[in-house]
Amino acid sequence: MLLITNVETYTPTPVGRPDILLAGGRIERIAAGQRLPEGGGERVDGSGLVAVPGFIDGHVHVTGGGGEGGYATRTPELMLSDAIAGGITTIVGCLGTDGVTRSPEGLLAKARGLADEGLSTFIYTGHYAVPVQTITGSIERDLLLIDKVIGVGEVALSDHRSTQPTFDEFARVAAEARRGGILSGKAGVVNVHMGDGPRGLSLLRRIVAETEIPITQFLPTHINRNATLFEDGIAWAKSGGLVDFTTSTVPAFLAEGEVKSSAGLKRMLDAGVSIARITFTSDGQGSLPDFDAQGRLRRLEVGRVTSLFAEVRDAVQHEGVALEVALQTITSNPARILKLKGKGQLAAGADADLVLLDATTLAIRGVIAGGTWLMRDGQAQKKGTFEA
Ligand code: ZN
Repeated sequence: MLLITNVETYTPTPVGRPDILLAGGRIERIAAGQRLPEGGGERVDGSGLVAVPGFIDGHVHVTGGGGEGGYATRTPELMLSDAIAGGITTIVGCLGTDGVTRSPEGLLAKARGLADEGLSTFIYTGHYAVPVQTITGSIERDLLLIDKVIGVGEVALSDHRSTQPTFDEFARVAAEARRGGILSGKAGVVNVHMGDGPRGLSLLRRIVAETEIPITQFLPTHINRNATLFEDGIAWAKSGGLVDFTTSTVPAFLAEGEVKSSAGLKRMLDAGVSIARITFTSDGQGSLPDFDAQGRLRRLEVGRVTSLFAEVRDAVQHEGVALEVALQTITSNPARILKLKGKGQLAAGADADLVLLDATTLAIRGVIAGGTWLMRDGQAQKKGTFEA
């Protein structure tokens, strides 16, 4: 048992300074005046700290991604330390452009490995391509038969790397995801990689207009990748759609018109989009080019999962978005949209996944996953199997 006393708490709704009692990997109680039972447990003074739900990163290339500049540009796998540094206790793994040298089976194995190391993990089946490459033969079967599969993606649209699915082909993907989701009690979300192409969200709009599939079946990501797509995303969200921002970036992308997630969040809220429709993900372990001042490729960088909370913090500290609002993009919203039970909120009965922030700087000081310390006083308490 672990008792954190007198800690400023955002569930993500602010609830003052209760005590938080953790037991058996769950949150036992959140209320002032909690005591540990006779002889049991550890007590931590939470003054000067802010307790928030463990972060959910809903789009991470945990087995590595990239490869779009040849074999040497395939990016490395995610290590446990990366997730700990970013306060991420729940990860949804996915494949990207490459579905040949990266497989959904490998993704499932990596997700299981990260779970063995202490995180909560899920995966999307498939990758950029349609027909979708699955584990058991269909999207529906993967959703029904493999616990970790919660949806399909990232399927690419409006991108030169897309397989350019037709209306019928893409509608079929969404229909299978929906059926599998309904039958398995999972979200069955279609995570859609949006490229830079001028078609934007038009194919998704047609599917919503011409079929019975609800708009919320789709979670288009990279919505902040350029100004045109961002504006399209505002209209999509205002008509009831979900939008996912990508937090990993490089200065060259921002200079070319990518919308920084923290500033984009403020802009969407000011435009009248409900916070409930917005999520952030890191696109961690994806490849990012790093250009010099003359525009020459210097080297490739790897997307970082630590960018996820960094953008939430920037939204609070530089854009004036309230912490309880910004936090929803990486806690309660992805938990609800992806139907991740026990995740994304601090409440009795929820999983004991917490992040402790410095109350002044909002730096990550502690990470608890399933009731176990992964970071304490700013120091990682665990390492991945092959980390030095
Ligand atoms: Zn993508």
